[in-house]
Amino acid sequence: MQAKLHFIARGAKLSKTAGVPPAPPEGSPQADAEKSQGKVYADLRQQVTDRIVAMLEKGSNVFRDRWSLAACRGMPCNGKTGEPYHGVNVLLLWDAAIERGYSFNVWLTCRQAASLGGQVRKAEKGVMCVFFQPAPACADAPPQKRPVGKGGVLGSEEDNAGWRPTGGLICKAFWVFNVAQIDGLPDAVSVTALTRHASTLSPVEAAESLLQRSGARFRHGFDQAFYAPSRDEIVLPHPARFHSPENYYATALHELVHWTGHPSRLARAFGRRFAHDAYAFEELIAELGSAFVMAHVGMVDATIEGHAGCLERWLSVLKRDRTAIFVAARHAGLACEYLTGAWNRDTAL
Ligand SMILES: [Zn+2]
Repeated sequence: MQAKLHFIARGAKLSKTAGVPPAPPEGSPQADAEKSQGKVYADLRQQVTDRIVAMLEKGSNVFRDRWSLAACRGMPCNGKTGEPYHGVNVLLLWDAAIERGYSFNVWLTCRQAASLGGQVRKAEKGVMCVFFQPAPACADAPPQKRPVGKGGVLGSEEDNAGWRPTGGLICKAFWVFNVAQIDGLPDAVSVTALTRHASTLSPVEAAESLLQRSGARFRHGFDQAFYAPSRDEIVLPHPARFHSPENYYATALHELVHWTGHPSRLARAFGRRFAHDAYAFEELIAELGSAFVMAHVGMVDATIEGHAGCLERWLSVLKRDRTAIFVAARHAGLACEYLTGAWNRDTAL
């Protein structure tokens, strides 16, 4: 049974930042009393899902237009550590960067900005991101000392708010600011973060290298693009049939994400949870995963061809299940790491 999660702000300062009232642990007498009084606390996962559904509802090609636009700016990364953000945070930061017109996809927590000599300008609004950590043993236990995430991108405790024991994972929020919102930062912060993962290959060369090093079997000369699990091979139209080399690689990368789900690789399976929507859910993962990979190789202005999207079904899944986007983004992130991790190792020398 899916654990029910709620976001509970903790600490007046943090709550003010988040615009969420402080709340007692769910299930406590105080919480029950306040619930009976009709007080409602923000549900963090629902907030994130609502934001992403709103993105999707902006247009029928949001993944391929809006997020391709975002992807061409690369993966959002932390300005202090240079490490990329992961999962659903990539979507949240991409959308914020487009919405607000930031040219650098580099982000810092307030504390990180201060540690670099910067100051977030007054009235600037941060972008809420989320991370997960194991739930404490009991409801009244203090939150665990927050582990620093990969590259320290999780921010400090002061940059985070909300915890709730669930018997599994708790979902916590942290806020980051784009370097464009911060005064006093050394110029090197943006440049260093952006060039840390830069490749000497062009995006098309990098995509071709990634395809070759994956070891996947490709067959060309067909009308449509698809991955055939039974034969474990990727079928594509001839490259000359595509409108541009970028479109060919975007399409091939989409199919390559499907390929990572094979039992011998990431063994992606959704069980009964998404039984009726397994196809649409796998498509959502492939769209997200290929956007992540395209961002990684710096692919610009690429469109997936010969493969129909299924926006309405994605929306239906996301609206019914407020944690679905987290699951999809996690699988997409794993697929991206599976593909680019091997690629990075092989091209590091
Ligand atoms: Zn597909």
